Amino acid sequence: MLFSRQTFLVAGLSRSGVASAEYLLSKGAKVYLYDDVQDDNVAAAQSKLTALGCITVAPEELTEKSAHCDVLVLSPGIPVDHPLPVAFRRAGKRIIGECELGALALRCPCVAVTGTNGKTTTVTMLEAILRAAGANSVACGNVGKPLTACLDELGEDGIAVAEISSFQLETLYSLRPHVAVVLNVTEDHLNRHYTFENYIYLKSRILKNSAESEYAVLNYDDPVVRGFAEKTKAKIVWFSVRERVDGGYLSDGYLCFRDERICRESELTVDGEHNRANALAAICAAKLFGAGNAAIATALKTFRGVKHRLQNVGELGGVTFIDDSKATNVDSAVKAIGSVRGESILLVGGKDKGYSYEPLFDAVKTSGVVHAVIYGENAFRVLNAALKRGFSAVTLCRPFDMAVRVAYLTAKPGQNVLLSPASASFDSFKSYEERGDRFVEILETLRKEQAGAGGDVEAE
Ligand code: ADP
Repeated sequence: MLFSRQTFLVAGLSRSGVASAEYLLSKGAKVYLYDDVQDDNVAAAQSKLTALGCITVAPEELTEKSAHCDVLVLSPGIPVDHPLPVAFRRAGKRIIGECELGALALRCPCVAVTGTNGKTTTVTMLEAILRAAGANSVACGNVGKPLTACLDELGEDGIAVAEISSFQLETLYSLRPHVAVVLNVTEDHLNRHYTFENYIYLKSRILKNSAESEYAVLNYDDPVVRGFAEKTKAKIVWFSVRERVDGGYLSDGYLCFRDERICRESELTVDGEHNRANALAAICAAKLFGAGNAAIATALKTFRGVKHRLQNVGELGGVTFIDDSKATNVDSAVKAIGSVRGESILLVGGKDKGYSYEPLFDAVKTSGVVHAVIYGENAFRVLNAALKRGFSAVTLCRPFDMAVRVAYLTAKPGQNVLLSPASASFDSFKSYEERGDRFVEILETLRKEQAGAGGDVEAE
């Protein structure tokens, strides 16, 4: 693409929008900026980028200025059926995402990781493994470091370990990963993609450019992902926590790859079968890049997990607080309650994304969850699902702060308070990070109150 001859409209000024604008400016393009939202972060991005030469477009100028633009660079946060991309599409103009810009410019091999859950965990693990093996690997994409911002760091010799979400796949066309990893596909983001079929189709697009010389690392245990094998020309490498497959599997307490023992399951520091699956996926990808077993084992044994994912954040009065705020859909919460040891009070609820919560309560009934405290905008839908599935040990309590306190008061010493919301955070928070941080703050407040009250917390 000849950037210097084109005019771009960058819509959505979050991290990836800013990176896109900076990248395009560096290539000599003319860049307009637009955001529906006007808050401090957007204002800061606008003033930084206009100082560099971008032109900010006000809402009332959008139609006129759009007419001068050749390409729309759409933030993953803006749906493709928003009026702006719809107008560009009607005018026959291109719509791309920041990842597409990165893919067009990438000069080194890439591992692209997608799936409903486990992307960040797997990408972080894999970056660590490849680094231990001596490669200049960089975790990028949806993990928080835009691809266009890593191009220099990666050069020609690096390995881009790119986390790719379904939102990014909507506007990504040219990425041709040497290894594409698909972890799992379960219901999520139905409020954005409308149907599960559409969501599955978007996830499958990670494989659409793969040729015979490339690899697809696929989860054999997930029926949707297993079906992707028929849709790709890439060579298939399976991983499974249940069966001995051609690729990564568990055997006699070891994580293995094609008859080689890599490390003991007990040496992993992250709990749960889902994390063993993530580790197997990372092992498969690492082996395809030639990583040695010793380097893989060292990195896996020292991997400490990622913040807000089943993180033990402290103890109070014999009750353990676990922050799994990133469990923003049902399957991730199901995995959490299946992984946490002992009995738990589950904190669940938030912003609805259009799927059923009933599978969560089917899992709850056979887990260590003894009570659920339900909060958030979707509280009545969640409550309805719990009661429909015959789980009545529930308290409906809003807002979030109160719900955390009630969960703590409900817990007996030895039990956990598990924040695994199965919902997005946007009803009350800017992000899942803010929700997890708030959870920890409430724990600290409770700690102080308890110290001040001579060891007792009393409900008023
Ligand atoms: P993503 O980047 O895909 O959102 P994360 O690694 O951030 O994935 O984890 C998100 C949530 O999903 C966390 O609650 C985590 O405990 C859970 N999780 C991690 N790996 C898996 C997996 N393979 N299957 C299901 N849930 C998972």
